[in-house]
Amino acid sequence: MDLKSLSFEELQEEFAILGEPKFRVSQVYDWMHKKCVSDIDEMTNLSKALREKLKEKYEFTSLRMARMQESEIDGTRKFLFELSDGNFIESVWMKYHHGNSVCISSQVGCRMGCKFCASTLDGLERNLLPGEMLDQIYRISQITGERVSNIVVMGSGEPMDNYDNVLKFLKIISDERGLCISQRNITVSTCGIVPGIRKLAEEKLQITLAISLHAPTDEKRKALMPIANSYSLAEVMDACRFYFDKTGRRISFEYALVKGVNDREEEVAELTSLLKGMNCHINLIPVNPIKERDYRSTDRTNVLNFQNKLEKNGINVTIRREMGRDIDGACGQLRRRHMEEV
Ligand code: SAH
Repeated sequence: MDLKSLSFEELQEEFAILGEPKFRVSQVYDWMHKKCVSDIDEMTNLSKALREKLKEKYEFTSLRMARMQESEIDGTRKFLFELSDGNFIESVWMKYHHGNSVCISSQVGCRMGCKFCASTLDGLERNLLPGEMLDQIYRISQITGERVSNIVVMGSGEPMDNYDNVLKFLKIISDERGLCISQRNITVSTCGIVPGIRKLAEEKLQITLAISLHAPTDEKRKALMPIANSYSLAEVMDACRFYFDKTGRRISFEYALVKGVNDREEEVAELTSLLKGMNCHINLIPVNPIKERDYRSTDRTNVLNFQNKLEKNGINVTIRREMGRDIDGACGQLRRRHMEEV
């Protein structure tokens, strides 16, 4: 059992069984989630005996930084972390004027099979524990020495395929007894697993839900994303409306522009009829080409054209600022390169 993956309430239960007084729970939780220590021995107001007992009884997630790459263009940093079982995951730190943002992974690898994505090429290795998601943020804030104000669960993995651990992560990271990152500053991105979206809606969190859309019709979506064979766009859109009704949070759609595949006049029209009248926003991302696949990204002028046309049709559009292109910025690229080299 990983100590860092326990909620405050679970920690209370554990300490009750251990026969430890209640105030110890707050102390240990504070060391883990506010002071972000990487070792139980750093919890200096605990007795040596208690520290030994904790070390004996529990795992204590602490990621080891295996590699870091810093972009010369925009200062974005990509981290490769090693997990205790020898697996590797990657996380990205981005500096924006509104604060620092961390993009975390939710699984080792991924089994969703999206055609343009490097994370999924070798399939799913395993789910990440809540502590392993938290520690990506804890280690990065310690290494950079800066406060993290925004989190995006947009690294490798499909969060809805690791639902319980992701939910626990979201609760601990936004807990006022921990780093207390506002739920409004957290985005979870899914490829469109409908039951997961509906379940999350019922939690009534204030996080932003992002949907990887990438194509405006079922047929075109199936060509890029196998998940479209399981859930139709009609079902996804219904679940999105349900999410909005339950939480009042506007949905964000991600759309990776692939040259000649989903960036034409006809997709503008199809997207417009799909999204018209919905309280949402679409984020255009020129696809970041991976060497294993022959997808090319839309030229800058066409990206702007695509945006203009959608805007004329009354859709809210932004273009994702591309960051870290020079450091294998896209999902799964760094981990993959690392695995190839060793
Ligand atoms: N599994 C989740 C979250 C991880 S991916 C999801 O599918 O939403 C985060 C976003 O990056 C997704 O929208 C994904 O489709 C996109 N993405 C993956 N590889 C990409 C690439 N090479 N170029 C541009 N976007 C990419």
